[in-house]
Amino acid sequence: MADILDNWQKKALDKRKENRDYLKRVTKKRGMEKHLPDLHDEAFSKIDCLNCAGCCKNISPRFKTPDITRAAKYLRIKESQLIEKYLRLDEDGDYVVQSSPCPFLGADNYCGIYDARPGDCRKYPYTDSGDFFEYVNTTHLNSTICPAVYYVLERLKQIVP
Ligand code: SF4
Ligand code: SF4
Repeated sequence: MADILDNWQKKALDKRKENRDYLKRVTKKRGMEKHLPDLHDEAFSKIDCLNCAGCCKNISPRFKTPDITRAAKYLRIKESQLIEKYLRLDEDGDYVVQSSPCPFLGADNYCGIYDARPGDCRKYPYTDSGDFFEYVNTTHLNSTICPAVYYVLERLKQIVP
């Protein structure tokens, strides 16, 4: 299966329509979620997030109130300082980072607030969660950002054509 990840970003873009149609078709099928734990483990046995950081470079987590409290405490700054220096409100009224890549991402791809990172960062990329099929548009977008999502989708297409 090693070839699935070769040149995956180009293939993910080329397969955008195919993958959107597939996700829409299988999302209501019973039993799809049972494949996720094994495929999640399979994907991350081949992918090292520290060689990637695609999520931290391209999209922002939401900083919900507990996330702001936790991160500010970790950085030993006031919550208002964290908001002023790093965050902005998006169109949905959620706090997100002001710029990409995420300001907490280090040059070595380590997260500078790893132990206090937002809940969204902990859950991303949802390859072991029911959210994978629940939020088709997000999963589809993530298939062009995260190699693990692309990988799981390709393997799902093999198992459940
Ligand atoms: S995009 Fe996916 S593989 Fe890359 S760092 Fe994020 S979770 Fe890991
Ligand atoms: S807080 Fe950390 S894990 Fe989350 S996007 Fe920023 S660098 Fe990545």
